[in-house]
Amino acid sequence: MQVRVRFAPSPTGFLHIGNARTALFNWLYAKSVGGILVLRIEDTDQKRSTKEAVDMAIKSLKWLNIDWDEGPEIEGPYGPYYQSDRLEIYKEYTDKLLEEGKAYYCFCTSEELEKKSSMQKTLNQLITYDGKCKAVSLDEAKERIKNGELARVRFNCPKDEISVFEDFVRGTVKKASHEVGDIVLCRENGFPTYNYAVVIDDMLMRITHVIRGEDHISNTSKQVLIYQAFGFEVPKFAHTAMILGSDKEKLSKRHGASTLMDFKDEGYLPQAIRNFLALLGWTHPEALETMVDEDMIKAFALNRFSKSPAIFDTAKLRHLNAWHIRNTDLDEITNLFLPFLIKDGFLKEDYTEEEGAWAKKLVSVIRHNCVVLNDISKYVPIFFQNDFEITTEMKEILEKEESQKVLKFFKEKISEMDTIEDANIKDLIKLTQKEVGVKGPLLYHPIRYALTGTSEGSELSHICDILGKESILYRLNKFV
Ligand code: GLU
Repeated sequence: MQVRVRFAPSPTGFLHIGNARTALFNWLYAKSVGGILVLRIEDTDQKRSTKEAVDMAIKSLKWLNIDWDEGPEIEGPYGPYYQSDRLEIYKEYTDKLLEEGKAYYCFCTSEELEKKSSMQKTLNQLITYDGKCKAVSLDEAKERIKNGELARVRFNCPKDEISVFEDFVRGTVKKASHEVGDIVLCRENGFPTYNYAVVIDDMLMRITHVIRGEDHISNTSKQVLIYQAFGFEVPKFAHTAMILGSDKEKLSKRHGASTLMDFKDEGYLPQAIRNFLALLGWTHPEALETMVDEDMIKAFALNRFSKSPAIFDTAKLRHLNAWHIRNTDLDEITNLFLPFLIKDGFLKEDYTEEEGAWAKKLVSVIRHNCVVLNDISKYVPIFFQNDFEITTEMKEILEKEESQKVLKFFKEKISEMDTIEDANIKDLIKLTQKEVGVKGPLLYHPIRYALTGTSEGSELSHICDILGKESILYRLNKFV
């Protein structure tokens, strides 16, 4: 049987790290077994769902390169894929449950329910509905509704049953049905609740595996009883451990950028975020840390999730991002850098082919220094400013006799060169070392200070390659 998984965001806020990880795990599983990933928008909470959040979720998934096989924009055989377009379907199933006595209408007012639940709370009892409206026959309930009364639909939860399901992370999970109680299936406005709609949708969409956060474990126990009431087959589950901040507290905005788009704006790469998310609660069998998609897809298995919470480690994310910046194909990484070069005014929006080629060369050099794409603002300016201030300390070093010898020799040779390239500059540096007889900082510092006015940055040969002959000579002339 073909594996079918789903990612089912509620568009009540922006996609954050936790949601993105769930999406990624489902995507990896589908890709690893040749399965189907369904994207379903769970927008039945009308008060809190917004179109903006739907658009943002879709945009975030696209940025992350997580593609789906069925869902919004890609219609499939089990649509519609927005829950708000499926109300008729839910109603059909609700009618069935009502007819079979597996659900009933409840006319209790919110005040009445609140009073009862606060009483249960005071007495330290389980907060469940007392079943008062079960006594109202279906015919009478329909009559009352016809006469304008509002009613919700409640599950007639079976007594003395155990809800059991198998979980790839938690093993066998059991809960007594009286702890679930007669939960609400449909609200007074006719909209289904999450726990109800999710069962019908997962069944109708032929979902075989449900991979989601551990915060849904108690919901799953409720859902299993609803599956059983319908006689539906229960899917397999994997509830992944929570993500905590480095202070072991629940991950929140305090721990830095939290929506996916914040990470994009800060200059994190989608492939680095995928790599990082995969390691939040999952491990590669060979303990690989830096991974590209193929590594993750090849090794992905549901039995490699960890039970203990995952810790969101920003230092690790930065390390992975820097690795991906260095190791991603040059054309691809250049394309990711371009918007940042344009944003910082280093490149015009309508850049020419020549400027594009220059940008690529620039990226090939500065990518070795950047941890996030935004770092270009630290490393690019030196290529634009032929005139810059230097510190007194640098000045003193540049004025030393040995430094002057280095700069003179280097300048002379540069002026004789026809082409300035990484390789021939590397050779020239070696030659300078040999001819002048200095090495290490005595050799590198004077050249670096004279060319860039800074003490750190890209490799000297790379810097020269980008500066070109004219700029190199202009800069050296100021100090020799
Ligand atoms: N809409 C739910 C959420 O965003 C989905 C939970 C599930 O995967 O069933 O939390």
